[in-house]
Amino acid sequence: MCPSDATSTQGGDRLQVAVVGAGPSGLYAVRALLESTVEVGVDVFDRLPAPYGLVRYGVAPDNQKMKSVIRVLHGSFDEDNDVRFLGNVTFGEDITRDDLRAHYDAVIYATGTQGDRKLGVAGEELPGSSGAREFVSWYCGHPDAASRDFPLRCRHAAVVGAGNVALDVTRMLAKSSEEIAGTDVPDRVLDTFRDNRITDIHLLSRRGPAQAKFTPVELREMGELVNADIVIDPGELVLTEDDEQRVAADRQLRKNVALLREWAERPLEGKPRRVHMRFLHSPVRILGENEVAGVVVERNELLDDGKVRGTGEYETLDVGLVFAAVGYQALPLPDVPFDHDTATVPHDAGRVLDSSGTQEPGEYVTGWAKRGPSGVIGTNKNDAAETVNSLLTDLADRASTRRHDRTGITRLLEQRGVDYVDWAGWLRVDTHETRLGEAQNRPRVKVPDQPSLLELARRYPQ
Ligand SMILES: Cc1cc2nc3c(=O)[nH]c(=O)nc-3n(C[C@H](O)[C@H](O)[C@H](O)COP(=O)(O)OP(=O)(O)OC[C@H]3O[C@@H](n4cnc5c(N)ncnc54)[C@H](O)[C@@H]3O)c2cc1C
Repeated sequence: MCPSDATSTQGGDRLQVAVVGAGPSGLYAVRALLESTVEVGVDVFDRLPAPYGLVRYGVAPDNQKMKSVIRVLHGSFDEDNDVRFLGNVTFGEDITRDDLRAHYDAVIYATGTQGDRKLGVAGEELPGSSGAREFVSWYCGHPDAASRDFPLRCRHAAVVGAGNVALDVTRMLAKSSEEIAGTDVPDRVLDTFRDNRITDIHLLSRRGPAQAKFTPVELREMGELVNADIVIDPGELVLTEDDEQRVAADRQLRKNVALLREWAERPLEGKPRRVHMRFLHSPVRILGENEVAGVVVERNELLDDGKVRGTGEYETLDVGLVFAAVGYQALPLPDVPFDHDTATVPHDAGRVLDSSGTQEPGEYVTGWAKRGPSGVIGTNKNDAAETVNSLLTDLADRASTRRHDRTGITRLLEQRGVDYVDWAGWLRVDTHETRLGEAQNRPRVKVPDQPSLLELARRYPQ
């Protein structure tokens, strides 16, 4: 929205830092910088007009409690801090690595993940088959998915994966439209859930219960669904001898296995939907000509090392939708070192390393871009603290060479015609969404499309 520089920015003594990505890791890094003894000025860039990354666009809409972490994250933008939000600015397109290195003493990459891991089976490209990321982005109102549609008109759907994202997707499919109406999903998404005809969701885990990555709190929620029974074949809750020992030694695994065993024994209550939790089953082919018409799954057997081997025993599930929740994945950022094997930015305690393992001076990384898609929101706090600690140690050594001045960055964006959104612009969007929510007795109603977000950021009356 290109206003003149409202927030005062100073060059000189103040350490000038650019943070790329306004998700939890980027904003925890800002907090760590502000809490240090160093005078600091920070610009936080995000390719979206809205901050908070996956807290806004990943955490399931029925988990509003988790989203309250936003209250902690937004504090850095208070007027007394020299911190600016520059949303709708894409690193690598609107602003380059060279631009940032020219205007700041240090750059912290906190861009998270931008892609989905694939299943790698035939038929995966058919309409009706998608990565969980696309579906999650759609129900969370991410602008990238604003024009997507996910008709939920088939009776059976499959979700592939054994982590919390797979549980989120399954839960959203299993909940009633009244339950979804209590969340912040965009109106269009709510309309789709009102027309959700799915009766059976097959949650497919390649390995056994002792290998699943579910956390007990998230898993427990499945058993409390008012709208869906859980169906488990006790024969699939297989533990090898090695598993038995691991489960006995690990509190989280113990809780998971106990819950699953309890549900396997529980009589069905005749709820409108059923979640079939299947273990030791992998999709091997998605069927259909013009759209998904089924999925062939192979039964696996567990090997001693925790890996699995297909048994050659197949079954066809009559599903019309397949969601692959097998992992979010980072993509390379233009000109920034990237390790394709781990899909992360190579680093040493947050210091970006080039391909020869040498430190790129003044460049740092945090969050999922640094360690891959693991851990909860809070994990990013310590992660960001480590990165900021490295940054401050390096720059304390080079204090006398500080020479950067970030005042010119907004001018540069304006010259390039970049319609950036500042913090006041984001607050206009926030107010609008909250008011929409109040009118419908909902926590907020998200505006998913980018042009509307930009229009609101420019004009919405406060
Ligand atoms: C579906 C899902 C549900 C989850 N639910 C929970 C939960 O309930 N509880 C919990 O504790 N954790 C949850 N997590 C984990 C949590 O969201 C992550 O730990 C956290 O968001 C990672 O933070 P990040 O800042 O590294 O990445 P992100 O949150 O992804 O933030 C990255 C930011 O960088 C921006 N960006 C990317 N590329 C560019 C670019 N080129 N230029 C400018 N900006 C860019 C993005 O727009 C984004 O705002 C969930 C994760 C997922 C995927």
